[in-house]
Amino acid sequence: MAKTTQKKVLIVGAGATGLAAAHHMQKQGAEVIIVEKAAELGGLAGSFAVQDEPLERFYHHLFASDKAAIDLINEIGLSDKLHFYPSNNAIYYGGTVYPFSTPKDMMLFKPVGLVGRIRFAATSAYLKFTSHWRPLEKQLALTWLNKWAGKQVTTIIWEPLIRGKFGDRAKEIVMSWLWARVHYRTFKLGYMQGGFQQIYEVLADSIKEKGGTFIMGQGIETLKSDAKKGVTAVLENGKKITADAALVTVAEPLFAKMTGTSFDASKSHGHLGATCFVLELKHSLIPYYWLNINDDEFPFLAVVEHTRMVGRERYNNKHVVYVGNYVPHDDWRFTTDPKELLEKYIPYLQRLNPAFSKDWIEDWHFSKAPFTQPIVTQQYAQQIPPNKTELPHVWLANMAQIYPQDRGQNYAFAMGKKVADEMLN
Ligand SMILES: Cc1cc2nc3c(=O)[nH]c(=O)nc-3n(C[C@H](O)[C@H](O)[C@H](O)COP(=O)(O)OP(=O)(O)OC[C@H]3O[C@@H](n4cnc5c(N)ncnc54)[C@H](O)[C@@H]3O)c2cc1C
Repeated sequence: MAKTTQKKVLIVGAGATGLAAAHHMQKQGAEVIIVEKAAELGGLAGSFAVQDEPLERFYHHLFASDKAAIDLINEIGLSDKLHFYPSNNAIYYGGTVYPFSTPKDMMLFKPVGLVGRIRFAATSAYLKFTSHWRPLEKQLALTWLNKWAGKQVTTIIWEPLIRGKFGDRAKEIVMSWLWARVHYRTFKLGYMQGGFQQIYEVLADSIKEKGGTFIMGQGIETLKSDAKKGVTAVLENGKKITADAALVTVAEPLFAKMTGTSFDASKSHGHLGATCFVLELKHSLIPYYWLNINDDEFPFLAVVEHTRMVGRERYNNKHVVYVGNYVPHDDWRFTTDPKELLEKYIPYLQRLNPAFSKDWIEDWHFSKAPFTQPIVTQQYAQQIPPNKTELPHVWLANMAQIYPQDRGQNYAFAMGKKVADEMLN
């Protein structure tokens, strides 16, 4: 049983990590004040309205193995909203779309020869079942894959996926990251009827009911700390907040700016940004939920037809499709005006479905965020900053501290809880 505390804690960020941390801190008696720069809750998992239904700005689902998320959803009374669906995935390669959901689909994947398919199955099964991942930290993913899965499997299946996610940095990605992706992911995918936004709203309501304070639409400009006096933050509007301790849930470059601490980008793993269109279409674009684009010519990495998984009823019968990418901050896809960018994407959407035309798009939305995918190189494990920072009473919890698993709401909830316990005990 955790001890109770009288501490007042400032939490910077009302995303998955910050809200989970606040929820667990209150259980231990802490007073929490949450400051969020955006007007809405949820951070990267935040939503907007599509046909009056909340929808995540970036595609989101859970895996059946996401225990921390499922436990939290149950705890806050939302379990009846969470549904799991069979995966419905495909790969676009060489001008053709191939189903790629089940072991049978994978064994029938024609672009790779029979020996390659057997090697793909054997190496995927190995990664799925082994828990022995530490030795994989010493290996580069593409080198390991070329050696064990073979050149053809690597070139056709894995390399485009890793390149799509990490661009020119693909060759530097460590095998332990890929191990975790294969090891923890399940064939069944979970989504909440009504959207994940409900988690954030229910958490925020419960935090407020228990006396927590929210300041929304105001970023923290500066955060200073003193071993004896605790922490002092100044908001964008100049207002001062004092607390006994602070938990900051933003990326390291933002943390450094806020606290005035040094940040050496050359010694950091770096992040890629994400861009994402949501298209509201008259007709279905693809007969799949998730389509990986294994073709370097395409300017995007994945097309996710959300309504293929959850149905169209809640979206006024529109077909809701995400078109997403991870790119460096100076990449043209990150800097181009979204209207112009969409024009550039149209011919590629037509390649996926020749019947597609621009007038299928009834409405569209664009989102981008700079710190969305840490670049997980061989040095990564050494570059992860500790949750307890060098500043007295100041803690940091962000997605780059999740390793070897890929970031996700599940791990954000788990980290929020873990750091809350460490801060208060
Ligand atoms: C394209 C994409 C797809 C994804 N797909 C999935 C998926 O399928 N399943 C899944 O579970 N997860 C997915 N994720 C990951 C998931 O969204 C994140 O892991 C999770 O939302 C991270 O939560 P967080 O609270 O740690 O960080 P964030 O969500 O980044 O929260 C940090 C918060 O701090 C706020 N902030 C920043 N600066 C300040 C400041 N100065 N003052 C106050 N507040 C500030 C931000 O506005 C933000 O709300 C995806 C992410 C992306 C980008």
